[in-house]
Amino acid sequence: MSSNHELFQRAGELLPGGVNSPVRAFNAVGGEPFFTARADGPYLWDVEGKRYIDYVGSWGPMIAGHNHPHVREAVQRAVAGGLSFGTPCAAEVAMAEAITRLVPSIEMLRMVNSGTEATMAAIRLARGATGRSIIVKFEGGYHGVGDSFLVKAGSGALTFGVPSSPGVPKALADLTLTLPYNDTDAARALFAEHGQQIACVIVEPVAGNMNCIPPLPGFLETLRALCTQYSAVLIFDEVMTGFRVAPGGAQQLYGITPDLTTLGKIIGGGMPVGAYGGRRELMRQIAPSGPIYQAGTLSGNPVAMAAGLAMLELVARPGFHAALEQTTMHLCAGFETLAREQGVPFTSNHVPAMFGLFFHVGPVHSYAAATAADIPAFSRFFHAMLARGVYLAPSAFEAGFMSSAHGQSEIEQTLEAARHAFRAVVQS
Ligand code: PMP
Repeated sequence: MSSNHELFQRAGELLPGGVNSPVRAFNAVGGEPFFTARADGPYLWDVEGKRYIDYVGSWGPMIAGHNHPHVREAVQRAVAGGLSFGTPCAAEVAMAEAITRLVPSIEMLRMVNSGTEATMAAIRLARGATGRSIIVKFEGGYHGVGDSFLVKAGSGALTFGVPSSPGVPKALADLTLTLPYNDTDAARALFAEHGQQIACVIVEPVAGNMNCIPPLPGFLETLRALCTQYSAVLIFDEVMTGFRVAPGGAQQLYGITPDLTTLGKIIGGGMPVGAYGGRRELMRQIAPSGPIYQAGTLSGNPVAMAAGLAMLELVARPGFHAALEQTTMHLCAGFETLAREQGVPFTSNHVPAMFGLFFHVGPVHSYAAATAADIPAFSRFFHAMLARGVYLAPSAFEAGFMSSAHGQSEIEQTLEAARHAFRAVVQS
C-alpha cells in the first residue's frame, strides 16, 4: 500500500506541484496533502485508512454527500448505455428542462464541461451581443482560469499571491476592470466613467473565492440597476452558489434577476460539467442559431447529464436547503462560541450550505477585510483540525461547504475538534 507521502513524492516528479489543481497541494497552509482512496456521505478516507469529516465536498458538487446512491445508480444506468455519443441525447433535454425550471432567469442554456468554460463563453456572448470589449469583475472574485479573469483573482490565484498570472497578455488584462466587492459607490463611479464601453459585469453573488462574503443589502441591486441603465449584461457566476444557497441559487435567495448565469459543480453531481444560460434573446446569438461561436466535443455527455439530473432531483426536494441552513448555522455558531472562550479574534460568515471562517474580529464584508485576517492562525487551526480528522479547505481564502450528509454527530465531532484547535491557535 502506498502512503500519502510516497504518492506525493511520485506525483511531484510528474505533476506540477504534485497536483492537477493548485489549491489541493496545501501550499497555502503548509505540509503535504492526503490522497483520498474513497468517499462516502460526509467522509473521506485517505490511502492510509484515516477518516476525515469533509467540508470541501469536492469544492462544491457534493452537496448531498459523497457517493450518494441516487446519483451513483443513475450514473451506473447511464454507463451501461454507452459513454459518449456525439449526437444529441434525451438526457440533455431533460437537464435543460430541470435547470430552467429551478432557475427561471435561464430561458435557454448551453452545457459545457467546467465552470471555466461557462464563464469564458458567457463573456464572449456579452461582448458579442453588446459590441463592447470591457468586462468588470471584483477583487478576489474567481471565475475560473480564462485569461480575462486572472486579474486580481481569488481562490488559488489569491492564495498564491499571483494577482494576475504571467502569460496573460497585458492587452487583454487591460480590458478587465476590477472593483471592490460590496462597494456600490465604486461601481457607480466606474459606470459613470466607462459605462458605454462595458460589455458586462461578472460577479459571484456570494463571494466564495476570498473565503465567504455575502453581498451587503443594495450591492447586487445596484449592479442590476447600473447594467440596465447602461445596457451592459449582468452575469451572475453561480458556479459555486447555484443550487447551493437555494434551489434557484443566489438569484432566488436575494431576488435579483441577472441577464446570464454561469453554473458548474452541483449540476454535474461530481462529473465535469458546466453551463451558461439566460435571456432567450441573448442565448439565441450562440452558434448554430447565431454568430457567436462556442462548442464542445463532450458537452452534454450522457453520463455527466445523468449524474447532474440525479443531483438536481435531490436538491429540489422540499426542505433540502432549510436543513442545510440549520446545520451551517449551528456549526458557525459553535465555532464562534469556542473562539470566544479561548479569546481568539474570530468571526464567521455563512449562507445556506456555505461558510467562511476568519481569524479577524470582523465584520468581514470586503476583500480588504478578508485579506487582513490572521492567515498563520488559520493555518494552525487547519492543521489542528486535520490532525483530529476534520478536513477544511486548505486555504484561508476558500469557502467551506456543508452537505446534507453532515448530521448532528458530525457537527458535534467537528466542534469537539475545534475546541482543541482553537487552543492550538492560542498556544503557538
Ligand atoms: N466560478 C466560480 C465562482 C468558481 O468558484 C469556480 C471554481 N471554483 C469557477 C468559476 C471555475 O470552475 P471550474 O473549476 O469548474 O473551471
